[in-house]
Amino acid sequence: MKHLFWAAMGALMIMTGCTKSTNNPSELYEGITFTDARMERGVKQAAALWTPEDGSAEEFRAFVDAHYAQTEEERTALFESLSRMMERLNESADMLTVELLKPTQLTNAGEPTDIDWIMSGYDTKAHLMDDLFANKVAFITVLNFPFYTLEEKNTLGEHWTRREWAEARLGDVFTSRIPAQTQAKMTETMAAAENYIADYNICMDRLRTEDGRQLFPDGMKLLSHWNLRDELKVDYSNQEKQEMIYRVMQRIIRQEIPQVVINNAMPLWKPYSNTVENGDAAREPDTRYQKILDIFHAMQQVDAYCPNMPTAIIRNFEGDIEIPAAEVDSLFCALLGSKQVMRVAAQIRTRLGRELRPYDIWYDGFKARSGMDEEALSVETRKRFPDPVSYEKKIASMLTTLGFQKENAEDIARHIVVEPARGSGHAWPCVGHNEPTRLRTRIAPEGMDYKGYNIAVHEMGHNVEEVISLYRMDYYMLHGIPNTGFTETSAFLFQSRDLQLLGYGKQKMDSEAVMDQFWGMYEIMGVSLVDMRMWQWLYAHPEATAAELRDAVLAIAAEVWNTYYEPVLGEKDCVLLAIYSHMVNSPMYLPNYPIGHIVQFQLEQALADKEGLEWAETYERWYRLGRLTPQQWMKQAVNGELSVMPVLQQIP
Ligand SMILES: [Zn+2]
Repeated sequence: MKHLFWAAMGALMIMTGCTKSTNNPSELYEGITFTDARMERGVKQAAALWTPEDGSAEEFRAFVDAHYAQTEEERTALFESLSRMMERLNESADMLTVELLKPTQLTNAGEPTDIDWIMSGYDTKAHLMDDLFANKVAFITVLNFPFYTLEEKNTLGEHWTRREWAEARLGDVFTSRIPAQTQAKMTETMAAAENYIADYNICMDRLRTEDGRQLFPDGMKLLSHWNLRDELKVDYSNQEKQEMIYRVMQRIIRQEIPQVVINNAMPLWKPYSNTVENGDAAREPDTRYQKILDIFHAMQQVDAYCPNMPTAIIRNFEGDIEIPAAEVDSLFCALLGSKQVMRVAAQIRTRLGRELRPYDIWYDGFKARSGMDEEALSVETRKRFPDPVSYEKKIASMLTTLGFQKENAEDIARHIVVEPARGSGHAWPCVGHNEPTRLRTRIAPEGMDYKGYNIAVHEMGHNVEEVISLYRMDYYMLHGIPNTGFTETSAFLFQSRDLQLLGYGKQKMDSEAVMDQFWGMYEIMGVSLVDMRMWQWLYAHPEATAAELRDAVLAIAAEVWNTYYEPVLGEKDCVLLAIYSHMVNSPMYLPNYPIGHIVQFQLEQALADKEGLEWAETYERWYRLGRLTPQQWMKQAVNGELSVMPVLQQIP
């Protein structure tokens, strides 16, 4: 997972396609002579954002006269100055956010106080957009570096220079004018959902079978859904445990879970009969769905200021992901409905020697590491990584294992710091040349177990990409990658080499790895469809209550299940696909994962015949391409477009 809530994303880089004006824009630019098409575009877009409070029509024309760059020299100077400003603003706001969040995010920053919790919802950029419109910097930017639509970027962009791409990204910055108050409400709502999720632990040692047996070890406390799912994967020989975890998940999704057993080690709970031994059995009152509704309502407030991209769905797919939702949907369905699903499922059935169950969407037996004793690996990782500092010290040498030259590896590692996380692991990106990228991981007092190590390697994949795509980038405005799914690619490239990093030799993309990835895509695409369709339902039912939303999600999850999963895994109307916590705290974030998987598969194919230095150089060339659109990036990286065909063709 990549840590990504509203405060961290920051308004500067993500708001696209939004405008609000009470003027008639054409009256503003009446009488202005456009010297070229770019000027016309810039003037018209600036006029669309200009309100009467910004000045009269006469003042607008005077503004254009004074600030439109007439010569190429002026234009270059302006471009550089704005890029520099953008970096300083992004960076200082991010550094402040990092500091304010430390007590609630890290275990080495003291116990969080009430004030810390309040400030965890504080958006350091909430007033920035307003300020930059007020002092006209936003208008100067739009006037000289206008916005291009996704379609234009994909067609015109074919022939753009790097500088022209960077200018187009500058044009993405000021396309909306969302009031600070609306923005702040969004930040606060997202933080509330984030905190709800971060504290949603199940005390496994308090669970009992109907005949009173304890299946899980003393002290085991698992965060929903990540740890629950991972525990289910780890102990694949123990179906009794798996069935119990599955039951717990259903209780959460259906909101039948007794409130008192959430993050509470006191009561004993029998998930099958749903009885609580020494506490009140009252169910959690649809809080899960209320959190989602709160975010939806905050989104609706934002919608009002985005006539060009008037829903969160459009902003997410055309704006952030930069692949239209319909294209994403059909990409996913092409894999979900493929005959390859049945072939892989048959393999799993044979290996398990039993009929498949719904939780077998998390079947984990294809990986080479499943053949290895996880406890033995944990002994090794605990010894190597007793604390964050020891992990940090070994990053450079792990990179040389992958083929990076020593000096290069050390230079990359220099920009990565490792910190102890309270919740699940995440990577916190650097957004300016004065700050490091942060690898946040949860390490137990006895050291990092294998599960934690595997996640840390995933996060390190984010960190390495973040360093290269910022510190090695030709233009600041191009720093980063096309979309969040692409950041996951680097994380997966690393995570799938976790044993190689421990010194177990090169990990190859054999048929086991192919089927493993395929099965992972099959799972996460269904989860993503549920998330996407929930948001479509929300916009179709804006007056819904939390209980109505709950019922809708159950119905959507069952429908996706019955179409693509029941024929393979059985159990009609199963709701398991709705368990992901991302649905609660990161709206429509989930599709990024399968998109990442699709891209990663194409990248892995391109890396198949590469080793050592050649591998590292190819990796670095890719992540220096920067924030092109997904389609353009793929063309330059692997000479093709996004497609599930490469994975389908590989299934034995
Ligand atoms: Zn990730």
